[in-house]
Amino acid sequence: MNRFTQITTLFLCGFFLLGFFLSSVKGNTEDSIYKTTYDVTIDERNPRLLHVKARFDLQDDVLYMSQNGAGQFPERWAKFVRNLKVTGSKGKTLKFKELPGAKWKIESSKNRTVTIEYEITLEHEKHQWSGGIDGAAFLRDWGVFYTGRSFLIMNGSKRIDIRLNFRAPTKWNVSASWNQTKPNSFIAKNLTDLSESMFFAGTHKEFSIKQNGFELLFALGGAEIIAQQEYFKGLARGVMDYYIDLMGGIPSGSPENRFKKSIVIINSGAALDGEVIGNHISMIFNPNGSKQDQLVSRFIFAHEFFHLWNGKSIRANDTTEDWFKEGISSYYTLKALRHVGAIDEEGVLKVLDSLFYRRYRNDKGYGKSSMRDVASGFNKGKHWGLIYGGGLFVGMCQDITIRYSTGNKRSLDDLMRMYFKTYGGSEKTYTTLDLQNSLAELSNASQADFFKQHVFGVTPIPIARCLSLAGLNATIENGQLKIGKHAQSTGLQRSIQNGVLEN
Ligand SMILES: [Zn+2]
Repeated sequence: MNRFTQITTLFLCGFFLLGFFLSSVKGNTEDSIYKTTYDVTIDERNPRLLHVKARFDLQDDVLYMSQNGAGQFPERWAKFVRNLKVTGSKGKTLKFKELPGAKWKIESSKNRTVTIEYEITLEHEKHQWSGGIDGAAFLRDWGVFYTGRSFLIMNGSKRIDIRLNFRAPTKWNVSASWNQTKPNSFIAKNLTDLSESMFFAGTHKEFSIKQNGFELLFALGGAEIIAQQEYFKGLARGVMDYYIDLMGGIPSGSPENRFKKSIVIINSGAALDGEVIGNHISMIFNPNGSKQDQLVSRFIFAHEFFHLWNGKSIRANDTTEDWFKEGISSYYTLKALRHVGAIDEEGVLKVLDSLFYRRYRNDKGYGKSSMRDVASGFNKGKHWGLIYGGGLFVGMCQDITIRYSTGNKRSLDDLMRMYFKTYGGSEKTYTTLDLQNSLAELSNASQADFFKQHVFGVTPIPIARCLSLAGLNATIENGQLKIGKHAQSTGLQRSIQNGVLEN
């Protein structure tokens, strides 16, 4: 099996995230503090059993679980819910009716404050998951992993400061995406923060990297993964510093998604996988996998991490702009890994060919569909090559064009910084036309024709022509992209090569 097949699903996960930051409500904080509480107990004798007891004021008469994921079951996430019980404020059991799609309608809604109790059985691994088990819930010898969507029953749409208290077996700790207040206790900002989340409870190892008030918290599960702790720390620190330096600051989400913390949960497992939920990353990989697999796992981490800037801070108007979000993020992922020494120049060229070019070339929309059109709606899963590969080569061509026309004084980095400044922390979103105009300004030349042909249009990207400006020879042999350096590059070309390949 092509080892990159798996990556496709991985990167796609990132696709579906932007739409999830629904509503956050700035309510009266004092009024609602801790009025919603979840007590979560992992059964000491049977870690496959999660007991949940939640207490809150009803905002309407429907209880529900996240509508993201588990679409393969008619009852969605409720497939794993057992023994749901709803009690009114006076201890009276309230009747309810189960509805399809993980919803329950309470028959008597006169009670304002209710307690709900239920169990989740950790049997998710018995089923197929389109995005992989890392986006659901699973058990390991060293603990349990749950996404918020897999275990939370909620009510209403306007809640803030939701408390979660965990009780775990002796010697277990809980690492979670929410703000931690004390060991095993957390506060979720709102319902989106509550459910677009993940936690690991067990004997795993936790460490965090902080920079300018932003925290990247790692939870490593499995002895072989823990043994690589220092490596992960170094890699994460290097990549984070590169991104902060490149963009000019820590991630800055929209007003509905202000975040200062992201969790990265890494567990060992046979198959490589990765998923982003909210602002958080869950990854599974084989610590004894091939060198190529190790590289891919680093790539996935660095790619998903960059989405905190290009995806969460800089946000597109629409999914048709995913060529920029995915392609340019992939370009900078390669640069970040090169920068920290996780990949050498030969490795970069190999990835450009085997992962990006060949998938771009073999995409069934190659030469027929535009990279924007295939990313509209839910079709994009079928066009990884056009969106990720095509997007990357558009980014690379534009980078070289700017560098070439400005004597290497400006580059695509300037666009990233400018867009981070303009869009980060705001509700504003960009379109492809905005990009076309900004890139024209940076290179002092209209990019209308390039965009008309290669971004809005279906004409394949002139990779060889772009690379030749940088003194690079690109040839296609048997459907493979071979990149070499001109025997005699000018000084400017050498500095452009450094900017594009070495950075
Ligand atoms: Zn992505």
